[in-house]
Amino acid sequence: MAKKFDVPIHFSVYINIPTFVTMLSNQYSIAEVQQIISAAGTIVRENNISILLTDSRQITNPAESLFFALHGRRNGHEFIAEAYNQGVRNFVVRHQPQQEYTAANFLVVSDVLKALQALAAHHRSRFNIPVIGITGSNGKTIVKEWLYQLMAADKSIVRNPKSYNSQIGVPLSVWQIQEGNELGMFEAGISTINEMDVLQAVIQPTIGVLTHLGSAHDEGFESTQQKVTQKLKLFKNCGLIIYNHDQLVNYTTNLPASAQTFTWSKNFKEANLYVFSETVISKRYYLRAVYKGQEIECLIPFLDEASVENAITCWATLLAMDYPAGEADKRMEHLAPVSMRLEMKTGINDCSIIDDSYNSDVQSLAIALNFLQQQNQHKFKTLILSDIFQSGLQQQELYRQVADMVKSKRIDRFIGVGEALQQNRDLFDGITQTHFFTDTTTLLAHLKELNFNNEAILIKGSRSFEFERISRALSQQAHETMLEINLNAMLGNLNFYKSKLKSGVKLMAMVKAFSYGSGTFEVANILQYNKVDYLAVAYIDEGIALRHAGIMLPIMVLNPEPSAYDKVLEFKLEPEIYSFSLLDKFVKFAQNNGVKNYPVHIKIDTGMHRLGFEEFELDTLCELLRNNHYIHVTSVFSHLVASDAEAHDDFTLRQISLFTNAFTQIEEALGYPVIKHISNTSGIIRWPEAQFDMVRLGIGLYGIDAAVPKHLSGLQPIATLKTNISQIRSIKAGETVGYNRNGKLLNDGRIATVRIGYADGYLRAFGNGVGKMLVNGVLVPTIGNIAMDMCMLDVSAVEVNEGDEVVVFNAQQTIEDLARQIGTIPYEILTNISQRVKRVYFYE
Ligand SMILES: *Cc1c(COP(=O)(O)O)cnc(C)c1O
Repeated sequence: MAKKFDVPIHFSVYINIPTFVTMLSNQYSIAEVQQIISAAGTIVRENNISILLTDSRQITNPAESLFFALHGRRNGHEFIAEAYNQGVRNFVVRHQPQQEYTAANFLVVSDVLKALQALAAHHRSRFNIPVIGITGSNGKTIVKEWLYQLMAADKSIVRNPKSYNSQIGVPLSVWQIQEGNELGMFEAGISTINEMDVLQAVIQPTIGVLTHLGSAHDEGFESTQQKVTQKLKLFKNCGLIIYNHDQLVNYTTNLPASAQTFTWSKNFKEANLYVFSETVISKRYYLRAVYKGQEIECLIPFLDEASVENAITCWATLLAMDYPAGEADKRMEHLAPVSMRLEMKTGINDCSIIDDSYNSDVQSLAIALNFLQQQNQHKFKTLILSDIFQSGLQQQELYRQVADMVKSKRIDRFIGVGEALQQNRDLFDGITQTHFFTDTTTLLAHLKELNFNNEAILIKGSRSFEFERISRALSQQAHETMLEINLNAMLGNLNFYKSKLKSGVKLMAMVKAFSYGSGTFEVANILQYNKVDYLAVAYIDEGIALRHAGIMLPIMVLNPEPSAYDKVLEFKLEPEIYSFSLLDKFVKFAQNNGVKNYPVHIKIDTGMHRLGFEEFELDTLCELLRNNHYIHVTSVFSHLVASDAEAHDDFTLRQISLFTNAFTQIEEALGYPVIKHISNTSGIIRWPEAQFDMVRLGIGLYGIDAAVPKHLSGLQPIATLKTNISQIRSIKAGETVGYNRNGKLLNDGRIATVRIGYADGYLRAFGNGVGKMLVNGVLVPTIGNIAMDMCMLDVSAVEVNEGDEVVVFNAQQTIEDLARQIGTIPYEILTNISQRVKRVYFYE
């Protein structure tokens, strides 16, 4: 690489013009793209593109991006303006937009998704490298990541980021193939017939790996037979296929006849890898097998059944690809857990820590930076990044891309760790603050001087940099009791309800009471990023906290205290008006402060008898609202008392009818339309006719809906409450446990003390065997009274050690189960969890 001063002056001005930079292997002229995807449309300006975009929120380098206006839940065409405003000039669309976009190229195709796939397939076909295609029902991502761990030492590998294995994810993954890559690894996931043909054409695998096939057939397939034959289509042109012999005994005719197969089995002696012995040696799994007539062995650092099966698949793949047995064993021993999830937690000095210290590549950096950008609670944003390995890109080109991305995401402070980043530090000029360190230890030694304070810190490093050390140093002291929130599951639930809304119906998310106990700004930021229309909180303080955290969405306050109306104004909160006295006070307040047309929400009491105007008050209300210019009635709403209960359906119908009369009368008096809403979670699906203009989604976000049978709904639990064991002791029959001697063991046994009590929200009602917790997967009862900070479990029947994890609720023992145990409702269980319990957010 030429030193800076070697570059002739007249050259340096041109250095950033794309044609003078080495062409990237996935850089295409827009004319080439048009030809590849057979698109209509006129090219108004010649551009080179290297980045495929499918989400207008993920723009990093607009000039080089090609935006695909895909039809998802929303029509991608709706986002063209947003992308254009951010500088994107190249689009693949179904229709030329009506609006004029100067100097933008629109490639018009009949199917935008097919065009994306065709472009990726074309890109793939330019590379003559071995590509492993991975499919199955479970374990695809683990097997892919493990194969990567096993082979990254001697090959430059390109693979799907995370589990990007869908009809969209696969093309985006394959697009990353670069000159210099020696091996590709792509997983393919399908949910119905005919999808695999497309993924096969995009991935064009030369080697096939089949992971675990579930015995049940999934929704989307008629039978197991159909599911298996569809999946096997991925292997159509593979020369080598690796699979568990026992899984495919009935399906071998579906494999291409010309392919060489490599099978493994625990039963079938003729398999290429016959595993005949499995034992556990000091918390490791020891496998012995016969391979090519020889006895070979392998030690893996995992014990659970699924991991062992995935590991054997990887072992077989190494052998099938001619790694010597001894070398394979050596590498298998170092398999590390795969975690695709990024973790957000509270850090020192009011910082938020976003911990993605597991791996690092350009794609997952983009994902993590997006997540960082969604979190608005801190103005100041810091990225700590290590060198990135194995990308297949030239170093300078790689770090140019990284630097562009970091700059476009407006990072305030960049901290680079590693020699390669240090060498390329000039590329990061322009960022307000930059610091570079050769290694993690040096950074840790300078931690104090970096003065982390009230900022969001993304920690992203390659495994070898051991960034978990930085994460530990910056996190608050780990409280052992933790509420984990799975943000992907929450988004899944949100999208489930969105899909149930009639077209045009808005969605208000209820984030009162710390979002039902799950967190404040963390949840609100995610909802804002995912474009809900409204938020609602119970009290003004909650609204203020959201504004401080950078939430710009309109916020309705259900119970606004007149003493704090000035705060309503200052923080642009929208009050609910539920009585004449409140209306009078707010109008006077607006008058005194020179405010006109302030948005308010009128609450009608249709049967709850909690807050709201009653039927007989409507005439007077309408009189007061008519020609009142101090307020603007944004919405009129009411609340259903039993939307989930069939027994009260007549009552619900009456509520809906009362509400209809009320808003009709009010709208008439106002002379302008208002947003009308009455439905809470359980009403959304049970009472579609009551969706009106908006619904208010609360507990459904948390995967709980009394009106929908769980197995049908696709709702997922999002929260796990866990703690661990402080002490274990043996107790003789007849001895008592805990306060007031309420706990007694009938026989000699053992009890465990765990770190959760009624002050954490584990109520006293759970004591004396009423409540149960999961210890190493087994449900065990409480014994004795629950104390303030601790309680005891009867663990006589299970194998446990001090420090073991204990789960209070998760997907196995649900919040609903706990509610049943003590005769309450899930809402109360969730909102009781005290603020001292640390919240950790996961995003995959
Ligand atoms: C809490 C609340 C909701 C949400 O109810 P869920 O049953 O959790 O969906 C809706 N509307 C009002 C007025 C509420 O107070």
